[in-house]
Amino acid sequence: MVLVRNGHPAIIDRNTWEIVQKVMDERCEHYRVNREPKALITEFTGFAVCAHCKCNFTVKTNHYYGSKGSKATKFLICNNNKHFKQCQSENIPLEPFKEGIIKLTKKIKNNMSFFKELLIKGFTDVNESEKRDRISAIEKEIVELKEKLKTFVGKFDNYSTSVSSEIMSRISELTIEKMNLENEILIVGSAEERAKAIVSEFNKVPNVIESFEDFDFKKLYSRAFIKDKGDIILVVGNKDVSKLTLKTAGELSIEIPYTVRISTFRLRLAVYVNI
Ligand SMILES: [Zn+2]
Repeated sequence: MVLVRNGHPAIIDRNTWEIVQKVMDERCEHYRVNREPKALITEFTGFAVCAHCKCNFTVKTNHYYGSKGSKATKFLICNNNKHFKQCQSENIPLEPFKEGIIKLTKKIKNNMSFFKELLIKGFTDVNESEKRDRISAIEKEIVELKEKLKTFVGKFDNYSTSVSSEIMSRISELTIEKMNLENEILIVGSAEERAKAIVSEFNKVPNVIESFEDFDFKKLYSRAFIKDKGDIILVVGNKDVSKLTLKTAGELSIEIPYTVRISTFRLRLAVYVNI
């Protein structure tokens, strides 16, 4: 997209536009209304997923007007709760969540050899040998079916026609099954290679992290899978979380205490390697 300023005759001239914006800002301030769009499109949009309904979380701003003046807090909210409460998920305060990502990243960096083991274990397809066995069995069956098909060549009676069409549909069924299995093996790839790539991303993160902007969290984690405040999983590897459940447990957990008015709460984050 290209933005060309003053590229066409203005519907409203710039001067009037700016005056109107100023008046709107003043009125918003007077009536304490937020002019920002309700759901901010942020770096977290499409990153955080609700474990209850598998919907994305978005960022919303809350405004408090207490005796100490106004204060805006941002939090992550399940898309299904944006207008009214439809999902049982909890809202996650954004600043503690960011702190949690920093703290977990530090913990991973301090436990790299354990993390590497987790990656290899998580990326190893335990079913790969089963899949390869099934592929061999399919190949053998296809060869046998093709042999059988040969005996019907040149025969056009009803029996021969129906049997050979049955054989052909079975061959195509098996071919599809084989292709799917081969694809699954290919997608998962080598555990060592995948682990190495992720370790190298963690190695690029500075040893002393001072702020959230010091590193690109999306290069390390593919998703945040949010169950509740006490159970947030940062996913490493495959970003498809459709197979994750409320029982999926993370490793290397950290806790972030935070206060709202006079009460203290805790966020708990852990990492999970997704095949
Ligand atoms: Zn939800």
